[in-house]
Amino acid sequence: MNEKKCRKCRKEIDVEDMYCRWCGTKQVSDENSIMVMITVVLLFFVIGPFCLIKLWKSETISVKIKRVVTILVTVGTIFLTLYMSQKIEQILSQYINTINMINS
Ligand SMILES: [Zn+2]
Repeated sequence: MNEKKCRKCRKEIDVEDMYCRWCGTKQVSDENSIMVMITVVLLFFVIGPFCLIKLWKSETISVKIKRVVTILVTVGTIFLTLYMSQKIEQILSQYINTINMINS
Protein backbone atom coordinates (compact mmCIF):
# COMPACT_ATOMS: atom_id res chain seq x y z
CA MET A 1 0.00 0.00 0.00
CA ASN A 2 1.28 3.45 -0.93
CA GLU A 3 1.69 5.76 2.04
CA LYS A 4 2.33 9.46 2.34
CA LYS A 5 2.28 11.94 5.20
CA CYS A 6 -0.63 14.24 6.04
CA ARG A 7 0.36 17.81 5.20
CA LYS A 8 -0.98 19.01 8.56
CA CYS A 9 -0.45 16.40 11.27
CA ARG A 10 2.32 14.45 9.41
CA LYS A 11 0.77 11.05 10.23
CA GLU A 12 0.89 8.28 7.62
CA ILE A 13 -2.12 8.17 5.28
CA ASP A 14 -2.89 6.42 1.99
CA VAL A 15 -1.78 8.22 -1.18
CA GLU A 16 -5.31 7.94 -2.54
CA ASP A 17 -6.89 9.57 0.53
CA MET A 18 -8.56 12.90 -0.20
CA TYR A 19 -8.81 13.65 3.52
CA CYS A 20 -6.51 12.75 6.40
CA ARG A 21 -7.97 9.86 8.43
CA TRP A 22 -6.47 11.33 11.62
CA CYS A 23 -7.20 15.06 11.49
CA GLY A 24 -9.53 15.38 8.48
CA THR A 25 -7.34 17.86 6.57
CA LYS A 26 -7.96 17.94 2.84
CA GLN A 27 -4.95 16.56 0.96
CA VAL A 28 -5.26 18.43 -2.35
CA SER A 29 -2.05 20.29 -3.15
CA ASP A 30 -2.16 24.05 -2.81
CA GLU A 31 -0.03 24.67 -5.87
CA ASN A 32 -2.76 23.22 -8.07
CA SER A 33 -5.53 25.30 -6.57
CA ILE A 34 -3.41 28.47 -6.85
CA MET A 35 -2.74 27.72 -10.53
CA VAL A 36 -6.46 27.13 -11.18
CA MET A 37 -7.36 30.40 -9.42
CA ILE A 38 -4.74 32.41 -11.30
CA THR A 39 -5.97 30.92 -14.60
CA VAL A 40 -9.60 31.78 -13.78
CA VAL A 41 -8.67 35.36 -12.81
CA LEU A 42 -6.55 35.85 -15.92
CA LEU A 43 -9.29 34.47 -18.17
CA PHE A 44 -11.81 36.73 -16.47
CA PHE A 45 -9.64 39.84 -16.86
CA VAL A 46 -8.85 39.02 -20.49
CA ILE A 47 -12.29 37.87 -21.62
CA GLY A 48 -14.27 40.39 -19.54
CA PRO A 49 -13.01 43.63 -21.14
CA PHE A 50 -12.88 41.96 -24.56
CA CYS A 51 -16.56 41.00 -24.31
CA LEU A 52 -17.44 44.52 -23.14
CA ILE A 53 -15.73 46.09 -26.16
CA LYS A 54 -17.58 43.67 -28.44
CA LEU A 55 -20.82 44.44 -26.62
CA TRP A 56 -20.46 48.22 -26.92
CA LYS A 57 -19.57 47.95 -30.62
CA SER A 58 -22.72 45.97 -31.33
CA GLU A 59 -25.55 48.03 -32.79
CA THR A 60 -28.30 45.47 -32.23
CA ILE A 61 -28.05 45.59 -28.42
CA SER A 62 -29.74 48.49 -26.62
CA VAL A 63 -27.71 50.94 -24.51
CA LYS A 64 -29.71 49.91 -21.44
CA ILE A 65 -28.60 46.26 -21.74
CA LYS A 66 -25.01 47.38 -22.44
CA ARG A 67 -25.00 49.45 -19.24
CA VAL A 68 -26.45 46.58 -17.14
CA VAL A 69 -23.93 44.04 -18.49
CA THR A 70 -21.04 46.49 -17.96
CA ILE A 71 -22.07 47.04 -14.33
CA LEU A 72 -22.49 43.28 -13.75
CA VAL A 73 -19.05 42.48 -15.22
CA THR A 74 -17.42 45.30 -13.22
CA VAL A 75 -19.04 44.23 -9.93
CA GLY A 76 -18.21 40.58 -10.69
CA THR A 77 -14.57 41.48 -11.33
CA ILE A 78 -14.33 43.40 -8.05
CA PHE A 79 -15.88 40.55 -6.04
CA LEU A 80 -13.69 37.98 -7.76
CA THR A 81 -10.58 40.04 -7.04
CA LEU A 82 -11.49 40.42 -3.36
CA TYR A 83 -12.33 36.71 -3.04
CA MET A 84 -9.12 35.63 -4.76
CA SER A 85 -6.86 37.89 -2.69
CA GLN A 86 -8.49 36.49 0.47
CA LYS A 87 -7.99 32.89 -0.74
CA ILE A 88 -4.37 33.48 -1.73
CA GLU A 89 -3.74 35.11 1.65
CA GLN A 90 -5.20 32.01 3.38
CA ILE A 91 -3.02 29.65 1.36
CA LEU A 92 0.08 31.79 1.97
CA SER A 93 -0.51 31.79 5.74
CA GLN A 94 -0.90 27.99 5.56
CA TYR A 95 2.47 27.81 3.81
CA ILE A 96 4.07 30.01 6.44
CA ASN A 97 2.61 27.80 9.21
CA THR A 98 3.99 24.70 7.52
CA ILE A 99 7.45 26.29 7.16
CA ASN A 100 7.37 27.38 10.82
CA MET A 101 6.43 23.83 11.86
CA ILE A 102 9.32 22.36 9.86
CA ASN A 103 11.79 24.89 11.31
CA SER A 104 10.71 24.50 14.93
ZN1 LIG B 1 -3.74 14.80 9.36
